[in-house]
Amino acid sequence: MADYLISGGTGYVPEDGLTAQQLFSIACHCITFKMKITLKTPLISSPMDTVTESSMAIAMALMGGIGIIHHNCTSEFQANEVRKVKKFEQGFITDPVVMSPRHTVGDVFEAKICHGFSGIPVTETGKMGSKLVGIVTSRDIDFLSEKDHDRPLEEAMTKREDLVVAPAGVTLKEANDILQRSKKGKLPIVNDSDELVAIIARTDLKKNRDYPLASKDSRKQLLCGAAIGTRDDDKYRLDLLMQAGVDVVVLDSSQGNSVYQINMINYIKQKYPELQVVGGNVVTAAQAKNLIDAGVDALRVGMGCGSICITQEGMMKSGIVIIYSFQLYYWGYFAANIAYYLYYFAEYARRFGVPVIADGGIQTVGHVVKALALGASTVMMGSLLAATTEAPGEYFFSDGVRLKKYRGMGSLDAMEKNNSQKRYFSEGDKVKVAQGVSGSVQDKGSIHKFVPYLIAGIQHGCQDIGAKSLSILRSMMYSGELKFEKRTMSAQMEGGVHGLHSYEKRLY
Ligand code: IMP
Repeated sequence: MADYLISGGTGYVPEDGLTAQQLFSIACHCITFKMKITLKTPLISSPMDTVTESSMAIAMALMGGIGIIHHNCTSEFQANEVRKVKKFEQGFITDPVVMSPRHTVGDVFEAKICHGFSGIPVTETGKMGSKLVGIVTSRDIDFLSEKDHDRPLEEAMTKREDLVVAPAGVTLKEANDILQRSKKGKLPIVNDSDELVAIIARTDLKKNRDYPLASKDSRKQLLCGAAIGTRDDDKYRLDLLMQAGVDVVVLDSSQGNSVYQINMINYIKQKYPELQVVGGNVVTAAQAKNLIDAGVDALRVGMGCGSICITQEGMMKSGIVIIYSFQLYYWGYFAANIAYYLYYFAEYARRFGVPVIADGGIQTVGHVVKALALGASTVMMGSLLAATTEAPGEYFFSDGVRLKKYRGMGSLDAMEKNNSQKRYFSEGDKVKVAQGVSGSVQDKGSIHKFVPYLIAGIQHGCQDIGAKSLSILRSMMYSGELKFEKRTMSAQMEGGVHGLHSYEKRLY
């Protein structure tokens, strides 16, 4: 298997390495951009039900990327997730754990184990938007023992009349001042009817930071994307997403070049001309051409290269028989699957001003740099972002390792939940053919730590190459200044960590 090094910038020697043009031998044209969305960080979280719901989309947008909410759920649930992102206000928690006076002290202890905190607002119905009747904090339950676990919260909680609250509409600064003066841990925010609409936590107050890279719309709300299918019932889903304020929809199909997708693009462009539409997935120019002609604003490129994907085992990429010997020429697994068509694609699509999203197979920050160097505008990630705090699902332990579930949307597991079957054109099938697996990924901590690591990695990559920005990186590639070098299997092995008896690999 071979690998490539990228080099460029000052001191580059023209004879060294190959230009991308030489490597892939086609002509180059100039860059224009069609998509109206600009991101400061070229990172997108994949619309998978173990990767992107509102928490992930909020974190990704705060860090300068964007999250695409999955659609393996009801239209109402998905629209609500989009609404949470659009309504997100830094510092205000709008979906906290809430309990009712009928919940028990034991429930609070359980929540403490699960979520690691114990300041829980208590409302009449146990839901947000219902009358606030109290709050239960560690001070209320610290001295209670096992035998108190069945006691209802109305006996243990601090009652409404003893609480300091703030009115809805309060600014974050005012709310923070009230919280500081009151010396409490949590500040409930209530509307005119004394119904709970949000809370602010003292611990978050300390953590509150600025997010200078945040992806925002003209009303200063975070950007949010959502995936939809291409069938008639997706038109209802689309309407709900529009009402929730979605900025971009991704037509989520494992093979994007279909009459369904082309009809859907036409439908969206007529009904919601301002809405940005990402088509895909595609891997051949013929597929791309049809979607570009239909009016997509960006293309999602990649088939059969996701970490959870078994498409290549059982299927053929449309129009391409998968030739495994590609692996001889490009960057191991990543390049075998992506580099080749990514370069062709980005080069083809930019003639029409359509940016390309490299989707699937991104395993390291090095892969991100390589994808961007080959012409992708952004990368879409599944496994790399799975098992972060913000990914859906609870952590669990296996052999002492903290894990979260991660599954392909074409796994039998995911297809049992309605919508993802449509991604694989399988909704009518009696026998389902899995195109993905279900597994787990090791805990990576929070997106707020992981994405800065990715950003720093991309910056270092550009610095090593000698590119001051990603657009310079791309123009260096198209001008031929950026060189690619073939690395043999032994060069790759010798270039890795060697000569050590043992070592610890901590990345950030
Ligand atoms: P990863 O980043 O390598 O984990 O790949 C994520 C990408 O794999 C997603 O963005 C999808 O394009 C693709 N994908 C998701 N589920 C499946 C599946 O079940 N089979 C094949 N590809 C999938």
